[in-house]
Amino acid sequence: MMMNLKAKHIEIYGIVQGVGYRPFIFNLAGKYALKGSVGNTGKGVLIHVEGDDDKLALFTKSICIEKPRLAYVTDVLVEDIPPEGYSDFSIAGSKGKNEIRTLVSPDMCTCDDCAAELFDKADRRFHYPFINCTNCGPRYTIIDKLPYDRPYTTMKPFVMCDRCHAEYDNPSDRRFHAQPNACPDCGPHVMLFDNKRNKIETANPVQEAIRLLKKGHILAIKGLGGFHLSVDAENDSAVQSLRKRKLREEKPLALMAFDLEAISSFAIMDEKEKALLSSFERPVVLLKKRFPEFLSSHVAPQNPYLGVMLPYTPLHFLLLENKFTALVMTSANRKDEPIVIDNENAFERLQDIADFFLIHDRDIRVRCDDSILRHVSGDTRPVRRSRGYAPLPVFLKRDVPMILSCGAELKNTICLTKDNFAFLSQHLGDLKYMSTYEFFTDTIARMQTLFDISPVCIAHDRHPDYLSTRYAMEQHGLPRFPIQHHHAHVASCMAENGADGDVIGIVCDGTGLGDDGHIWGGEILVASETRYERVAHFSYTPMPGGDTAIKEPWRMGLSYLYQVFGEDGILMDLPFLNTLDDQKKQIAGDMIRKQINTPLTSSLGRLFDGVAAIIGIRNQVSFEGQAALELEMTAPCDLEQVLAMPPYEFSWENKKKRIIHAGPFIKGVVADIKHGVDPSVISGRFHGSLILLFSRLAKEISKETGLNRVALTGGVFQNTILLSGLIRNLSKEGLTVLTHRLVPANDGGIALGQALIASSLYRNG
Ligand code: ZN
Ligand code: ZN
Ligand code: FE
Repeated sequence: MMMNLKAKHIEIYGIVQGVGYRPFIFNLAGKYALKGSVGNTGKGVLIHVEGDDDKLALFTKSICIEKPRLAYVTDVLVEDIPPEGYSDFSIAGSKGKNEIRTLVSPDMCTCDDCAAELFDKADRRFHYPFINCTNCGPRYTIIDKLPYDRPYTTMKPFVMCDRCHAEYDNPSDRRFHAQPNACPDCGPHVMLFDNKRNKIETANPVQEAIRLLKKGHILAIKGLGGFHLSVDAENDSAVQSLRKRKLREEKPLALMAFDLEAISSFAIMDEKEKALLSSFERPVVLLKKRFPEFLSSHVAPQNPYLGVMLPYTPLHFLLLENKFTALVMTSANRKDEPIVIDNENAFERLQDIADFFLIHDRDIRVRCDDSILRHVSGDTRPVRRSRGYAPLPVFLKRDVPMILSCGAELKNTICLTKDNFAFLSQHLGDLKYMSTYEFFTDTIARMQTLFDISPVCIAHDRHPDYLSTRYAMEQHGLPRFPIQHHHAHVASCMAENGADGDVIGIVCDGTGLGDDGHIWGGEILVASETRYERVAHFSYTPMPGGDTAIKEPWRMGLSYLYQVFGEDGILMDLPFLNTLDDQKKQIAGDMIRKQINTPLTSSLGRLFDGVAAIIGIRNQVSFEGQAALELEMTAPCDLEQVLAMPPYEFSWENKKKRIIHAGPFIKGVVADIKHGVDPSVISGRFHGSLILLFSRLAKEISKETGLNRVALTGGVFQNTILLSGLIRNLSKEGLTVLTHRLVPANDGGIALGQALIASSLYRNG
């Protein structure tokens, strides 16, 4: 029998601890009647396995194909060694705590097994809101430090009862070494309070919370990575009062529905969107509205899309089961503050927003908002990368030094690198606000400890006034690399696609400081990890009032009209101009004429704003990018239809670097308005023209440089028409198109690019 006795030493790296990897190996060894042992080290999982040669081969093959649900394997090393004559297969304890190379699992939604137990009357965890197992539950948000062991998590105060302990110790149990394992006898509990901190005495806080939601109350509900504010999405006045109290005028509110069937009653999903909704990460997915009348129109006013997610904690399942078509589940924060995570803070910060508080006694250690994704041109496009994805690294093409990159300002994230890992943080938010800045500094410190990273240099945006830049300037003794905003955008796209060498980068963005002191954002760069050349950009247009022009797109509308038609532009008989207050119009006109408080911009985001205003879509925005978004929503949603429309004229000046004239676009738009052309056609033509313009430029630059890879990046690429149109056209031209699938195209992905550039510059001295 033992003619072919062989042995192998196997090392496995990645997310392989705290995810049931050792029991998985134990069972696999049993299946093939192999002997040996499996254990954890600071670096990963070590296996010694011996037995029949053929079975050993099958075992090794299985390791490469199969894995436990939450495991994420980055490397498998297999080595032949002499057999040692083991008599059985055993699970060894953790060995050594040398170098930390273990990755940390993101939080994962309740698995099917646990969900079944949750609704099983005979189960001892029936309706228990903290049910979890090795395959599911909280991870990143409860971890203090590595190794991932219960005493180093916020489960520390809960001492496991005998039954839970027996599960925890049994290698064949689904809860073997499940650190957050708990039951109603020994684990956390939910409680209900009113907004004066009076505890509501009830045998079933969850049922009582459902009753209050049904009555139209606003509830603050403690979740996985923070609190949500919740109302019944069908209740118009409840949704309206939530908006009023949260000072959130029009920005869409995220929804949560019990299952795909519930979602299908109000939104359209294709198979890929269904898969994305049902994935373990449970992101908010942007879906087209189907029967919007089923929900309050105030959930996402003026927007054909809804942000929807499925339940991801047992508490969510209990709240939603057969109770609501959907609940509004929006991050609980005061305007411009980060999401609230602890109970005390919730009472303090949310008392004038929420009527009641459904809280629990397990602490959230790490703040982590819901992630937001959409599906465009066959791929997943992150809008916000956070819960479920962070702190999973982006895998780089090669090992890099340890680097901290500080990101930009809006939608800030930070990045820390080590080996070939780029750990992009969860979404942190808008750094203009002090409380977000604290979250930023805390996250840097926490991630450095968690992943054992001591940066050798710091990368930051070139903008001197960003708080992220100021932070970098305060870190003395480390070399600093100031990195141009749009170069970082291109590098971010390169990093996630594993591209090196030179690429053509089309950057369609809102705001980023250029090397000439102007605000860039409609750029084509020829860029590598170390350098870039600006080979084309939009012409400069004044922004009357500076940053105010971002919040008031009418200012950009006026500025483009003035630029193209001179004084006549302001006096023209256009519906848009007639909506403006004469005095305001006069002041803005003077600013442009006298060049007072009028920074110059080549930003495509501002061109979208200007066109949106001129068409009459809106003069003011209540959230970032609103006018551009609504301009997109005005266009026909069928790409072929958009591309079949006659484009506006466009041209560029062929100097050393090409200057693209914004004027012809504006002229075309104004002519259409005067001819009474429908706004949907105007928006369609505008989008189609931009797609054509960038395709032609990319082709020309490709011919000139011999480069055939084009990276599409920058916040404006959240625009589905622009993204899918350029992917289609550029691929048709035989160019390789690099796009964002792992990190956002917006400033949420910029820290990754900064890190990649800094690593090259550092290496080159
Ligand atoms: Zn589970
Ligand atoms: Zn227990
Ligand atoms: Fe940007």
